Amino acid sequence: MSSCIFCEILAGRMEGTFVYRNERVSAFMDIAQWTAGHLLVVPNAHAAMLADLESRVGGEIFTVAMRLGAALRRCNPAPHGINLHLADGEAAGQEIFHVHLHVIPRFPGDQFGIRSPNLGRRVDRASLDQRAEEIRAALEPGR
Ligand SMILES: [Zn+2]
Repeated sequence: MSSCIFCEILAGRMEGTFVYRNERVSAFMDIAQWTAGHLLVVPNAHAAMLADLESRVGGEIFTVAMRLGAALRRCNPAPHGINLHLADGEAAGQEIFHVHLHVIPRFPGDQFGIRSPNLGRRVDRASLDQRAEEIRAALEPGR
């Protein structure tokens, strides 16, 4: 028995409602259903955080999420939009420490959203330039 609930679902030891599965990536219904059709795309191999995930698998997670978003748009009722959301780290709201990308179908009036006191704010260019320089210097080559 793993201590990771997503590994348990992937191993079939806990119930999961799957919509997609290949050798590296799986997708199943989120038990919480933030909106109707809410899905999670996960790597099959346990990776707690993005830093633990092969970038190739990360790319595949995104590709599968794109395909699922397109599939959702063909369902009835068809969502008017799709949000993709990934929380990396406890401070970001991550609760299950097995990387997962939320695919969230959006419908008019569903009241789902990202809250921040800074939404709509504009920051001066000098501050942006300074922060960007720091981020560029911190980039690991080739990742
Ligand atoms: Zn896991």
